[in-house]
Amino acid sequence: KILASIITIGDELLIGQTIDTNSAWIAQQLNAIGIWVHRRVAVGDTREAILRALDEEGSLSSLILITGGLGPTADDITKPVLCDYFGGVLVQNEEALQNVLRIFEGRGLPTLQRNLDQALVPDTCTVVPNKRGTAPGMWFEQNGKIFISMPGVPYEMQGMMLDYILPRLPEIYDAPAVLHQTLLTSGMGESFVAERIADFETALPPNIKLAYLPSYGLLKLRLTAFGKDKLTTALALTQQFTTLKSLLTDITVDEEDIPMGAVLGKLLKARGQTVATAESCTGGYIAHLLTLIPGSSAYFQGSVVSYANEVKHALLNVPEATLAAHGAVSEAVVLAMVNGVLDTMKTDYAIAVSGIMGPDGGSPEKPVGTVWVAVGDKKRQTAVKYQLRYDRRHNIEMTAAYAINELRKF
Ligand code: ATP
Ligand code: MG
Repeated sequence: KILASIITIGDELLIGQTIDTNSAWIAQQLNAIGIWVHRRVAVGDTREAILRALDEEGSLSSLILITGGLGPTADDITKPVLCDYFGGVLVQNEEALQNVLRIFEGRGLPTLQRNLDQALVPDTCTVVPNKRGTAPGMWFEQNGKIFISMPGVPYEMQGMMLDYILPRLPEIYDAPAVLHQTLLTSGMGESFVAERIADFETALPPNIKLAYLPSYGLLKLRLTAFGKDKLTTALALTQQFTTLKSLLTDITVDEEDIPMGAVLGKLLKARGQTVATAESCTGGYIAHLLTLIPGSSAYFQGSVVSYANEVKHALLNVPEATLAAHGAVSEAVVLAMVNGVLDTMKTDYAIAVSGIMGPDGGSPEKPVGTVWVAVGDKKRQTAVKYQLRYDRRHNIEMTAAYAINELRKF
């Protein structure tokens, strides 16, 4: 196994002000190319802490990826520390300098000395270009180990990894092939799924592993195959994935690990159809999930966030009598909401939701977590009731996932 360490630098990580998402992202990328991250450490912006982390991780791993502390402010000390650790002196890097000038010119701002200083790098490193920011990355090699320092800003770090670092690593390490395939399911708990596919799981060859990844309203099943070369590994993986799919067709949402908001787009775009939402308890969250997907304007028309009863009546034409007779959280009301938003938005399909997300507002007949979801077109609508049992935030997430899945099944 090729072992890697990730060192994240910054006091903000230690006090919990910033959540370390860089490590998770880097680990995913390395894992995908067969490099095993066996340690992750976060250290503060101090010389001693950084030196110690370099020593320790350098003794335990062949690849050490470092993020943070490259900024133009006095609290960012990573660069001088690296310069001392690997030896050498700081020299101006022409490419990095042009990059700094280009970025400041583009923003119409004067370039300060401290920004120009960002183009200084130790002469013992190879510069990793940063197209998305001013701080260049630095690639050091020492005693057969590779150390790469990158900025803390996730967007900049990711650009460097994708454009420059990740493409170079497989040649260097000749890592084994590691391939993943993920099935997205909804509507059955993980223990029931495990029961159903128990025989399949026991019969899996030793180089293929199955992982269950439950989240609110969804269950992902990931198959990971390890092998010497990509082709045979991919073949073995596809075989098993096909079997897995055939066992779970009734609960499959997608055969790719896509975000929930992308599920409908896949179907609607191909058919040239559109959707709108009428959202009470989710407050536009379904619309948010749909619009997070690039290109959603091709099929998503809009949403009526009809939180109050008056809005359900005024904008969606839900009869006041229906609201009074059944209450806002009812089959009759979500069906009327679907019809109302279809009329307003002139879409092919619509989704409507109304529920009690908690922590207050429940009653004996309609306890917290009661949700009605309706989907349909002008000719036909269906409604279904869910009883959720999480906190407000996760009840909203689940409602959105279930509602999107209802329309997928429609
Ligand atoms: P730059 O030179 O581009 O300013 P930098 O190397 O100086 O980057 P920092 O100043 O340490 O990076 O952090 C920049 C931003 O990135 C901060 O908002 C910080 O909270 C965030 N950040 C730093 N490390 C991480 C991390 N491990 N995960 C997620 N965000 C991070
Ligand atoms: Mg910092």
